[in-house]
Amino acid sequence: MKKAKAAIFDAGPGTIRLQSVELPHPQGKEIRVKNAYTTLCSSDLKTYSGDRKEANPTILGHEVCGIIDSFGPDAPRQDENGQVINQGDLVTWAVFASPKDDPQSGAGRPQKAKGLFKYGHERHTSACSWHGGLAEYTILRPDSLVLKVKKEVPLPVAALANCAVATMVGALRIADGLMGRHVLVSGAGTLGLVGCALCKAAGAASITVAEPDEHRRAMSRQFGADKVFAPEQLSGAFDLVFETSGMPSSMENTLETLAIGGKAIWVGAVFPQRKLNLSAEQLIRKLHTIKGLHNYNRADFIQAVGFLEQFHSQFPFEKLIQREFPLSEVTQAFEYATSEKPFRAGVRI
Ligand SMILES: [Zn+2]
Repeated sequence: MKKAKAAIFDAGPGTIRLQSVELPHPQGKEIRVKNAYTTLCSSDLKTYSGDRKEANPTILGHEVCGIIDSFGPDAPRQDENGQVINQGDLVTWAVFASPKDDPQSGAGRPQKAKGLFKYGHERHTSACSWHGGLAEYTILRPDSLVLKVKKEVPLPVAALANCAVATMVGALRIADGLMGRHVLVSGAGTLGLVGCALCKAAGAASITVAEPDEHRRAMSRQFGADKVFAPEQLSGAFDLVFETSGMPSSMENTLETLAIGGKAIWVGAVFPQRKLNLSAEQLIRKLHTIKGLHNYNRADFIQAVGFLEQFHSQFPFEKLIQREFPLSEVTQAFEYATSEKPFRAGVRI
């Protein structure tokens, strides 16, 4: 059997080994994809540093795009948009593959279905592999959400679709309408900047960013922010707050800037942290709503790819990938990303 390379992560920093692994032909409904580009998401970095526990050994990387290499005999020949897919097409796929008959899938929450398969998060074994972006191939399972991506979208930008962009599309969906709203984006990392671009495209009346880092504040203007503040200087009254930093103090402080009837959408806090200190009385008297979102659903994913196809050249998404590495230097990519904290480190496969 043909072999190909996969970056096998064991547990903790410095435990990634590039290994030759047997590469099976796709079976049944599987589709085999030659991975093209993977960006390191902050959850990859938290797993690498040990702040997050995943099954191991594993193949990390879930912000990924690739080129269709071959189809299993029963594999679908259309993507989630109904477009015909062929060998050689650029595609991306949702981070989860969920059983469609699960009640959570039926309720529009496929990311919480039982029996979910999660790319970049599964245990690598001889019987089950090729499920992470930091490898030469991915074998897409049945029930994966696959979308063709126009080849005009640069590979590093296409890679952002299935985690950062789809998550922020989901955040805007649960905000119920951006047109004419005054928006605060808390945190100008990748999620925050993508959020600015989405809010701009969706017709927000104004976009304000709260972010401690000066470079990130400057970047946010290029993604549509009208006003930028260091968090301690923040002022204003906002209809919507998108909290992307996940810092408890940011969630607490930005709630105080919500106007009457405002909504806070929290997407950043996906790691263990202290409990929050909130005033229930203020929440009630000001008619506030707080909503959380983890990952995204099928419609969000479709919209994310459509957004990048339409707007990839209107916002400088490529600048988010601050340094690029080949797969053979994947450990250096993680070391760079954890020490320098770029928006994204990219791995060209
Ligand atoms: Zn991610």
